[in-house]
Amino acid sequence: MKEKIAYLNNVMKRCTLCPRRCSVDRTTGEKGFCGLDDDIVVKSILPHHGEEPPLSGIHGAGTIFFSSCNLRCIHCQNYQISHRTSGKRTGSEGLARMMLSLQEQRCHNIEPVTPTPQLPGIMEAWLIARQNGLKLPLVYNCGGYENPDMIKILEGVVDIYLPDFKYGNERDSFQLSAVKDYHGVAVESIREMVRQVGDTLEEDGGIASRGLIIRHLILPGKISNSIEVLKLIKMHISTSVPLSLMSQYTPVPPVKDDYFLGRRITHEEYERVVNTALDMGFETIFTQDVDERTLSPDFEKDIPFNWSQI
Ligand code: SF4
Repeated sequence: MKEKIAYLNNVMKRCTLCPRRCSVDRTTGEKGFCGLDDDIVVKSILPHHGEEPPLSGIHGAGTIFFSSCNLRCIHCQNYQISHRTSGKRTGSEGLARMMLSLQEQRCHNIEPVTPTPQLPGIMEAWLIARQNGLKLPLVYNCGGYENPDMIKILEGVVDIYLPDFKYGNERDSFQLSAVKDYHGVAVESIREMVRQVGDTLEEDGGIASRGLIIRHLILPGKISNSIEVLKLIKMHISTSVPLSLMSQYTPVPPVKDDYFLGRRITHEEYERVVNTALDMGFETIFTQDVDERTLSPDFEKDIPFNWSQI
């Protein structure tokens, strides 16, 4: 583990932690696309009761929301934190204490959200927390735009991968996230995740202990993108992987007037994607209700989520 951490810290000197490969020296304060230096910046930490049931369980997933993101999608549901770098600078010791506090609150796992740009510090904190009694599984909740070489380093450390698979074509990924190679990179990195932990989700008493769930947020007017994503997963990964097909998209202020993104999805759009997944032979699908209630978190509040809506 110490060798992995040293390697990751070295990667930040010419940063290729993610496929944007900015090649800046973050250890001297240079900043790339994500705008982060080499410190750990946390925006919010809480037991999360709105994740997929095997992750949230009874006491909640132990979520730690990190500031900024390597994708910064224009419609991001967490835009208040993913498009900014402000937050609490914790250092690895402080982050380790946060992990242990989630265990004390009886959370079922430790779930860093958008960990990729801050991976070296998270691994350092993970090691410190394990040395101080942390026993929970590690859930890697990422945007799917991952450097496969960094994912390889996580073998034996991450227990459960929770990647998004957002786009199935270059047009949408470029328009919404300013990357052209998203779909190819997502396939390659998720294949590596599957190689490590398998293509199913292992549970112990209904609580996830190892494996993977692929998440896909269905966007209004972009059902063809969703179907392209399903085709790529079927063709290149597996139809045994648990899918989480998310209906909760809510227009956020940056896109509220956008022709496509300025509305929620309809029941018909959601059903079309779920039925296509079933027709393709996907065996395990987590679904959500489609309703008009707002589910976007508000990270200006102490508790960003309204659990009564979920
Ligand atoms: S983690 Fe940040 S600096 Fe490093 S390659 Fe990705 S966007 Fe660039």
